[in-house]
Amino acid sequence: MSDEELSVECGEHGKSPATFVCQHLPAGENQGFNVGYDPEHPDDAYPDAWCDQCDAVLEQEGEWNDRSEAFADIKMVCAGCYCDIRERNWQQDEDALVELISDSFEYLQARQASFMETYGIGDYERWDWYQENATLVFSNGGKPVVECDVDFVGSFSSSSNTWMWAWANDSLLEPVRVGSRAVRDLGDSLGLLKLASATWAAEPVDGWEMTAVMAKHLGAIGAYRAPSDNGFLHMVVKQARWVN
Ligand SMILES: [Zn+2]
Ligand SMILES: [Zn+2]
Repeated sequence: MSDEELSVECGEHGKSPATFVCQHLPAGENQGFNVGYDPEHPDDAYPDAWCDQCDAVLEQEGEWNDRSEAFADIKMVCAGCYCDIRERNWQQDEDALVELISDSFEYLQARQASFMETYGIGDYERWDWYQENATLVFSNGGKPVVECDVDFVGSFSSSSNTWMWAWANDSLLEPVRVGSRAVRDLGDSLGLLKLASATWAAEPVDGWEMTAVMAKHLGAIGAYRAPSDNGFLHMVVKQARWVN
């Protein structure tokens, strides 16, 4: 559980949210990385984590009890250290990720070309997005011309060089966050770190890769990347229509 109230002073990462991992993970490598979401904080960016050995004990015991908790001997680490620890211990099928991204790009490229051409995207004076009803509106001379139903994918920050999924971003309204949870579920089922984890060290291209994965998974007709204060906001377009 990461708790806004609870932060730690880390020699490497400064003042950061406190997170909790089993005793085997901080110094471990390839120990596996299992997470448990607190039902009261289902969008927690740094859910409690434990290794595969701890997971086996937890399975034997059927719950967190004296024995499984003693074996895990949970430690507090900073959120920055948590991400490093996750990177070192998470095990996944790299080929599955590469294939998923490549298939997804192929899907999105074909649809994006058609979306841009059909609706003349790129030719409008301005665009505005509205979180309350999850729409993206392109307009000329103050008049809306094309309206799109969108889901936010997430944002790339060029100040911290990190990606954050929309579902994990509590500064966004629920209507634009909800769609991205389907990718988290996909990531959970495929065991892929980038899809399943709220935030991680990234490059700008990661934003397009995650956008392509979400577009294909949700059957989107296109995607849009909007500049933000310190990076980019990515969204997928589910439907588009001419206004009037
Ligand atoms: Zn462990
Ligand atoms: Zn740290």
